[in-house]
Amino acid sequence: MSDNQSTTKPFIIGHLKPDADAICSAIGHAAYLKDVCGVESTPIRCGEIPERCAWALEQAGFEAPELKTEVLPGDAVILVDHNEFKQAIAGIEEADIVGVLDHHRLSGDVRTAQPIYFRNEPVGSTCSLVADNFKKAGAKPSKAVAICLISGLISDTLCLTSPTTTDFDREILPWLSEIAGVDAEEYTANFFAAGSLLAKGCIDGMLESDRKEFSEGGKTITIAQVEEVGFGCFDEKRGEIEAGLKKLCADKGYVVGLIAVTDITTQSSKIIAAGDASIFGNLEFDRVDETLFNAPGVCSRKKQIFPALAKAMQLASV
Ligand code: MN
Ligand code: MN
Repeated sequence: MSDNQSTTKPFIIGHLKPDADAICSAIGHAAYLKDVCGVESTPIRCGEIPERCAWALEQAGFEAPELKTEVLPGDAVILVDHNEFKQAIAGIEEADIVGVLDHHRLSGDVRTAQPIYFRNEPVGSTCSLVADNFKKAGAKPSKAVAICLISGLISDTLCLTSPTTTDFDREILPWLSEIAGVDAEEYTANFFAAGSLLAKGCIDGMLESDRKEFSEGGKTITIAQVEEVGFGCFDEKRGEIEAGLKKLCADKGYVVGLIAVTDITTQSSKIIAAGDASIFGNLEFDRVDETLFNAPGVCSRKKQIFPALAKAMQLASV
């Protein structure tokens, strides 16, 4: 934060449909600005807190950040865990973006009148970057903030097992775990056990809480993902999930829709497909029946599932 920026306290905010990394990196970055830089800020959120993230905040003893549905022209805003306006709070185009801390592709949306604090690195989580900022300053987060940052890190990297994990994350997690006094693996198991959408049979939640749309060759496709500890109730719920996915594709006009149920303990997924079978039939995963695939070793939408679907579309030449 520099002197030529707005003097109003900046809001720190993650993306729409926030995940643990979006919420926890906002809280962590606010703590960093206050403790290390002496700058006051307000972490906020622009969506419901997922149940696992609520559990994590409880462990850390934090209140949920305030919910805001829009920012106003001239509001000072720091974006964490995203930099695309499509994923950002309403009003972002007119806001005064004073900082970005992120680990996603650059969209080119962020334009500013002044130079800003901008850090974007291809690491496993935004929380890893927040932790590193503390480390680089020779400071340590509080125990509560460390628990928060661990939550975002293990959530995004499935406790360092996802292919998006880097050596940077592998160094940060033990550092945080020591400060927090938690065993990362045990914490991960409890985090993912909290609020299992599959066990609750919450089909809407499974389809909507972590779903992305992609444009591929002029067609719109969608991939939802749910992380679980084991595949316990999968067979029992499969019919309902598939019916929900079919309806979603029909309603929204997706040429193909996938939902990946990922077992974090084995880093494997079961993938249900709906839409054009001449496309998803080309998926390189083990086909169990018409619409179900086993995908051992597959847990990353960004690095594994989306590329496989894009390839299947090319093979079907749609
Ligand atoms: Mn995120
Ligand atoms: Mn993230």
